[in-house]
Amino acid sequence: MRIAVLGGGVTGLTAAWKLGRKGHDCVVFEGGDRPGGLCRSETIDGYVVDHAGGHIIFSTDREVLDFMLSVLGPGGAVKSERRARIFHHDRWVTYPFENGLGDLTPEHRYDCLKGYVEAWHARKTGAEEPRDFKAWCLWRFGEGICRHFMWPYNEKIWNVDLARLGTAWVRGRVPDAPVDDVLKAAAGIPTLGYGHQAVFWYPASGGFESVIRGILAALERTEVRCATRVETVRRDADGFTVNGERFDRVISTIPLPELVRTLGDVPESVASATAGLAFTSLTTVFIALADATVPDLSWVYFPHPDDGPQNRVTFISNYAPANAPAGGASVMAEVTHIGPCPGGTAKTARDVVGGLVHRGIIRAENVKFTKTFSNPYAYILYEDGVEGRIDAVRAFAASRGVDTVGRFGNYNYYNSDRCIRAAFDLAASYPDA
Ligand SMILES: Cc1cc2nc3c(=O)[nH]c(=O)nc-3n(C[C@H](O)[C@H](O)[C@H](O)COP(=O)(O)OP(=O)(O)OC[C@H]3O[C@@H](n4cnc5c(N)ncnc54)[C@H](O)[C@@H]3O)c2cc1C
Repeated sequence: MRIAVLGGGVTGLTAAWKLGRKGHDCVVFEGGDRPGGLCRSETIDGYVVDHAGGHIIFSTDREVLDFMLSVLGPGGAVKSERRARIFHHDRWVTYPFENGLGDLTPEHRYDCLKGYVEAWHARKTGAEEPRDFKAWCLWRFGEGICRHFMWPYNEKIWNVDLARLGTAWVRGRVPDAPVDDVLKAAAGIPTLGYGHQAVFWYPASGGFESVIRGILAALERTEVRCATRVETVRRDADGFTVNGERFDRVISTIPLPELVRTLGDVPESVASATAGLAFTSLTTVFIALADATVPDLSWVYFPHPDDGPQNRVTFISNYAPANAPAGGASVMAEVTHIGPCPGGTAKTARDVVGGLVHRGIIRAENVKFTKTFSNPYAYILYEDGVEGRIDAVRAFAASRGVDTVGRFGNYNYYNSDRCIRAAFDLAASYPDA
């Protein structure tokens, strides 16, 4: 079969890789000037930066993890232990926050433990699980942890009133420490917490995009067309046309709202469901440092607005020696927005640098340069009721015969490993050529 794959991110390329090996001919339509989507990286003056903030290789799916590591070739990947912290006012707190209560001041520790025990008791005596995320946090963690971390951090990353969000996405995303861990942590007894991502990998050179380059090198029977936006997708008795060219099947990994625009004759109900698929965009602020003075950490969450607009900072030079020139170091900060990225990224960069300098995490005189990257789609905004809208749009794409897959391609909160799994499974459902 001749298959059009819309979008050349990790999902589209993996689908094309699998289908090529099955003997199908694929054409990947990629709107950007090179493939990779959210997994792109760049090397500037010897400093490696990932366009969409901190990316690591991790998966509980052995086949997927092996695939990601194998495409990197002999250069391979560097394995690291996760060393994540939360910057809380004047101190580093072990991540997840419930496992780090022992790092707080006695007053804050008391607030958090008191609220946690009250919430635990309320749940045990029948308090019903709330539907909105803000109330859910209170129900799950109690008032102290909400006030000190969960609410300010989530307000920073989602940029909306948390009561607008549902809870369908939290399982496996919001760490859920056992009560025993929380009690131990508050008493100062170390606990591991959130075994997920306790170790991770990062390409030894070339940034996270090396995964993409590895998949590209392994493609068979596939043409990747960059700077080629998909404008129209139509189905007829003989198959499909994409931008007027004939195909037997179409797989879409481009964001669902972009796909709907290409399909034509969109019913009013689908148009309105599509308009209700909210998302956040992301500005990545990269900071190249002249000397290697960053903390020996993987990444740090910044819940409080006083510390700058970033919700997270990755110390990317700690991921692989090749990520910064000898003696240098680097920092990558993530700033999210509702809807498209605003202009004025120079101000965002200044605010991030200002926040980190103010907190003594970097020194202003040590900054060699900053660079910003705008990512129009970063996180799905799980507003209450969004599942119904997602189902309606997916069903519309399916009614036009298009297979949808990927993070925004199918509107799933997927990391690249789960995108790869979904692409594997979709390709497996196609017959051999
Ligand atoms: C801040 C952040 C941190 C993350 N951290 C990690 C991590 O540590 N580990 C991990 O595994 N994953 C991580 N992820 C998730 C990971 O980036 C995504 O799951 C993955 O890259 C999604 O791949 P995709 O191919 O589905 O989509 P995308 O990468 O978005 O690819 C879609 C492609 O479609 C193209 N496109 C769009 N419209 C059109 C059009 N009309 N015509 C043609 N092409 C079009 C785009 O240019 C893009 O290349 C993170 C994501 C974010 C935002």
